[in-house]
Amino acid sequence: MSSKLKKDYSKYFEFDHDEEGKIGICRICKNKNVKKEVKMKQSNTSGLQRHLKIFHQKEYEVLFSSKQTSKKASKVTELRYGSITASKTDEAAHCETQEGSLVKQVYGASKKYDSKHLKRGRLLERQVFDELRRKGRHLTKSGFHILPKSPIFGDPLDGIGLDYTLEIECPISGETFKNYGKNGKVSNMYKGRMMLQILVCGKKGLFCVAD
Ligand SMILES: [Zn+2]
Repeated sequence: MSSKLKKDYSKYFEFDHDEEGKIGICRICKNKNVKKEVKMKQSNTSGLQRHLKIFHQKEYEVLFSSKQTSKKASKVTELRYGSITASKTDEAAHCETQEGSLVKQVYGASKKYDSKHLKRGRLLERQVFDELRRKGRHLTKSGFHILPKSPIFGDPLDGIGLDYTLEIECPISGETFKNYGKNGKVSNMYKGRMMLQILVCGKKGLFCVAD
């Protein structure tokens, strides 16, 4: 454990020993009169990290979004950061189960599935992107964007222009085409996605549906 990390954790934990070894006592819990001891086998801090992440999200974000964090630690949090993406906004809006697959996905506990529809979508998406460029849109491929203030929100945009984000949708059939919007207006389901992208990037949004 580097001295830097030790210093960081000491803001939130007191250190002690019990008969099994080193422990961290959460200061935040202590202030609420809750005794929370976290085992630190061989001075391992992963338990401390987990405790902050689960019970004290604000403190966790302060600690792990800071530039002082070691490379290894920031990589771990990057995987969790951005777990609420635009494609989950509609699911989140209509979610009625407390611990369903959406919650598991957000916490990174379940794998994303792939299907032939998704594969087809990726192929079509590339065609739509190229077509937009041919039409003179200044677009570039985009990486994952994260909302700095609330890093759990993020989105892998389909593309990005000078002042707009790009969302490309590829309906499975002509029948589902109308679900995406009508008369130039984006349907509510996809409006949510766009809102998140607009929020994350601070740009306008361009919505394209393949026909
Ligand atoms: Zn605590």
